[in-house]
Parts: sequence; C-alpha cells; structure tokens
Amino acid sequence: MIDALVERVSGGGVVVLSGAGLSTESGIPDYRGPSGAARRHTPMTYQTFTGDPLARRRYWARSHVGWRLMARAWPNDGHRAVARLQHGGLVDAVITQNVDGLHTAAGSREVVELHGRLDVVVCLDCGNRVSREELDRRLREANPDFAARVAAVNPDGDVELDDAQEAGFHVVDCTVCGGGTLKPDVVFFGETVPAPRVASCFALVERARLLLVLGSSLTVMSGRRFVLRAAKLGIPVVIVNQGATRGDAYASLTVDAALGRVLPALADRAVDAAAVTPVTPVAAG
Ligand SMILES: [Zn+2]
Repeated sequence: MIDALVERVSGGGVVVLSGAGLSTESGIPDYRGPSGAARRHTPMTYQTFTGDPLARRRYWARSHVGWRLMARAWPNDGHRAVARLQHGGLVDAVITQNVDGLHTAAGSREVVELHGRLDVVVCLDCGNRVSREELDRRLREANPDFAARVAAVNPDGDVELDDAQEAGFHVVDCTVCGGGTLKPDVVFFGETVPAPRVASCFALVERARLLLVLGSSLTVMSGRRFVLRAAKLGIPVVIVNQGATRGDAYASLTVDAALGRVLPALADRAVDAAAVTPVTPVAAG
C-alpha cells in the first residue's frame, strides 16, 4: 500500500484535503471517526447559537474550558509530513476541514481553512475580528473563579458542565460596536462556507494532478464535493484514513491506516523519489 501511495504522490501536483483524523494524534477529538461515539453533545447549529441566548451561554461556557485543550495542541507527525511534502515540491496546496490551525503551525503554506479557525472570533453585528486569545482574556476577567470550579471536568475536550456552572457563566460582547454578538470564526452546522472560499478550493482541485484525502470520512458534502469534482474531471483521488469513507467509491487507492505512521514514511520516500526522478510535467489542458 505504501509503495503505491509513494508512487502516486512522488509525481507531484498534489492537493491535500484534510479532516479531523489528521488532528486526533494532537489530542483533538475526531467526532466522526473511530472514536466518534465519545461525543456527548449534539453539535451547536448556527440557528441555535444566534437565536438562543441561553444556548449561546452554554456554548461559551463549555468552549471556555475546551479552549485550553485547543490552545495547547501541537502539530503532530502527520501535519509535519504534509509540510515536508509541500517543501519538497510535491504538494501544491492544502484544503483543511479542521479549525485548529495546525497545518499552518507545522509550516504548511497555501492552506485554505474551509471551516474557518477557532482561534479567531468574529462579531456578527459589525464584522470585527479579534483573536481568541484576546477574547479568552476578557472571558477570564468576566469569570474570575470559573476555571477553578470546573477544573475537574476536563477529560477529552468535550466538556460536560452542570446547569449551575453554565448559568453562572458571563458571556462578553463586542467592544467595537458595543454589544454585538461574538462567534468563533468557524462554520457551524447549519451554516454555509462563504462562496469565494469554496470557489478557491474548487480552483485548486481542478488544477491538481492528484487529490490526496487525509483523515476525513467525507461524511459531509462540505468536503466530499471536492472528491466528486475531482472524480468528474478524471483527477485521481487517493484516500488515507482510518476506516471507510464516503469517498472510497471514487478513489483509485485507499489506505486504511493511522496517519501518524503512514505520512512520515510517505514524506521520507516520496520526497527522495521525487529528488532523483524528474517530475513529469503535467500536459496543459
Ligand atoms: Zn461588533
């Protein structure tokens, strides 16, 4: 399997589409992957977040605790291998469904963060963006004894708080427009990815020689549509994921394995192979 993977990737012109499975080894839970059953909460929808102040307070209270884990997460061998493939000239761009910023942290360039970034906060009223770090500082000031009360409740990033803890949490608003609703700058369920962002991803896929899916079960159309587009255009699709995916039928090669093991080996061998074998130019048109 690894030989076939190396052979395809060492030809270059690769666009990576990555998902939660790539970040699980950084301690960020994959809600849809093999450990997905661990999820306790139904995901917050955009409609609930914007329409229900109590739900919004619950979100921020949990997120205030969960952010500690996200802020501590580091790129893993998989992210680093993708960056090495990129620096070796084999990967042209990365489209990621992850909101953790770990591709960029690992040194990748040309990263399109399809679903946004959790470390940025946007005001829904005036559009101002601030860093999550800045918001975190304000939330800590508004909730001075909160961290101590929930210190025991921090198992896996999917934080469970009781009603009293949630009710005692103070949400803060936008300081620029004075009272605007703040939301993490990520695409929630029930929300659509901004059209220009989708268009730029389609453009990347259409120029690719190979679409390499890493750690995504392709459950949601948000990511799967790029596989469908590649398949329609006759661009080969290769999928490395732990478990079956909803894109397997369109793939010329699927590798069911842990990314943290496969990707470093792939980067070692594909970059070496590309260094000794001139990359075949892709015919125009
Ligand atoms: Zn505002």
